[in-house]
Amino acid sequence: MNPKAHLIAEARALGFVDVRVADALAGTPGERFRRFIEQGKHANMEWLATSEATRVDPRLVFPSVRSVVVLRMDYGGVAPPSPGPGYGRVASYAWGRDYHNLIGRKLKKLQARLAIAIPDVRTWATIDSRPVWERAWAEAAGIGYPAKNGCILTPSQGSYYFLATLLLNEPLEPDARVGPKCGACTRCLTACPTAALPGDGSVDVPRCISYLTIEVNDAIPTALRPAMGSWVFGCDDCQEVCPHVGLQRPEVPVELQPHNAWLDLPQLLETEDDWLTAVTTGTPLRRAAPHRLKRNACIVLGNQREGRSALHIAERHTNPVVAEAARWALDRL
Ligand code: SF4
Ligand code: SF4
Repeated sequence: MNPKAHLIAEARALGFVDVRVADALAGTPGERFRRFIEQGKHANMEWLATSEATRVDPRLVFPSVRSVVVLRMDYGGVAPPSPGPGYGRVASYAWGRDYHNLIGRKLKKLQARLAIAIPDVRTWATIDSRPVWERAWAEAAGIGYPAKNGCILTPSQGSYYFLATLLLNEPLEPDARVGPKCGACTRCLTACPTAALPGDGSVDVPRCISYLTIEVNDAIPTALRPAMGSWVFGCDDCQEVCPHVGLQRPEVPVELQPHNAWLDLPQLLETEDDWLTAVTTGTPLRRAAPHRLKRNACIVLGNQREGRSALHIAERHTNPVVAEAARWALDRL
């Protein structure tokens, strides 16, 4: 079996649903990423700016790289219905266990199997945690195209997937790019509750609920709070409406199935921060520190006009960001 066919067979056996290759030396559209950073579109995500050089040139992290392999693993089964008022919705990528751990283990197995099967092969792998510009490589390898909702989108299949990259010292035959397919559709632009999508494929990050609920440490601007609706961690609105997201959702690994699709917000506010840290460890929810989760929970309860007694507890939280969000929510009640 040739090395590329072997790689694809092994990766599929490990649960990756698509595996494609880009020529590492053909380069990524680095100019786009540089503009993104220069224009400050990364907001407070400083790690993107400090790793700019390596993100656009993989030779800086793996000098012998010849091929960039992009691997796709789907998430996002069918969302369970809301259990009722007082619950906050979680973006589907965060429903299960931490994907870094799950996919990281699979990448290690893949690297070990390749090392046995292909003489002199050397590999370097990452899942969203080391400085590689996955989106650009996914585009170059033909996994999907950059869509108006800011995601990499696979025609007829949507964008609910994680991307992992494997750098290889072997020159493998590259795959073809996929042409843009959004056409005249503007469903995601209309669906975005904060008007964060200008329509050119970029995201106005400081307006995006995913960024606001997960990455922002301080108070969320009051003008944007009502638009959060019931989103307590992330947001899927611009993916959910996309006609390329099939009604028949993919089978996803058991670790990524919806264990945490809705959070009981009064219970969350009544839980000690240390305990909240303990129960979210090993899940993507851990990325938002307890005070961010509690701040978001207060805002959602304010939007739902629910949870008065829990909000009174949050009002006394030692973190002023939580206390202020609780007071804002109580005012709405
Ligand atoms: S994730 Fe939500 S807020 Fe962000 S761009 Fe998409 S719809 Fe808008
Ligand atoms: S909703 Fe329409 S415009 Fe938005 S990403 Fe999907 S196809 Fe493109």
